[in-house]
Amino acid sequence: MRYIADHDFHIHSTVSPCCHDENQTPEAILEYAKKNGFNKICLTNHLWDEKVKSEAEWHEKQRFSCLTSVLPLPQDENVKFLFGCEADMDYNYVVGVSEERLSEFDFIVIPTTHMHLAGNTVRKKIETPEEAAEIWVKRFEELLKKDLPWHKIGIAHLTCGHIFKGRTPEVIRLISDDVLYKLFDGCAKKGVGIELNMKTISLGEEDKGILLRPYKIAKDCGCKFYLGSDSHKTTALIDVKENFEDIITSLDLKEADKLVL
Ligand SMILES: [Zn+2]
Ligand SMILES: [Zn+2]
Repeated sequence: MRYIADHDFHIHSTVSPCCHDENQTPEAILEYAKKNGFNKICLTNHLWDEKVKSEAEWHEKQRFSCLTSVLPLPQDENVKFLFGCEADMDYNYVVGVSEERLSEFDFIVIPTTHMHLAGNTVRKKIETPEEAAEIWVKRFEELLKKDLPWHKIGIAHLTCGHIFKGRTPEVIRLISDDVLYKLFDGCAKKGVGIELNMKTISLGEEDKGILLRPYKIAKDCGCKFYLGSDSHKTTALIDVKENFEDIITSLDLKEADKLVL
């Protein structure tokens, strides 16, 4: 049975420092879910839990209390609205959620690819695609060494534009199949979710092929996938469903490939 696009587990609201749309409220997000026939969605604002020490400095809007300020989330009889977060990982590979707060979240997405934040997630600005590829692999490996409740963890946007100046395909093509198989084998064993997020409907055929390769390998390894739009504004919600369907078709995903929360 074809994978059903019935959820979106990566969405930001006005609480995130990078959300500049005052209309991106939990209520508007719930409406978006109803309109698209989703039965589960998750709010994942940026978190750096102040209980976790970091050499880097994080935005005060990433504090735990800021994320919980939107609770309780509005609910609908057909849509379950989960409370999650997008917890960053600093350049020492420290993940910004404390052990005692893991239980506060229904789902936690962790981006290894916020590689544009020099001084926070990477020590200094990345200069070449080769350097970016090395860091991409290293951060992914380091995340998998953590002791986390993997059944409710997702690895966010592995092929997003933050990897190296929007030149992500150049970076991804430098990473071998062997390395990817090793990483995604680890993911499959842990049961961690792999996020499907990239905008395949607006990619050219060549870039689409390059950027789908990691996910094809992940599927081959038996990984579970979830859909995450990573929307920060209401205008970004419009073609999310169409894009999700395009990714599902491109990867020929089945219901058995789905991460179930
Ligand atoms: Zn992100
Ligand atoms: Zn995000």
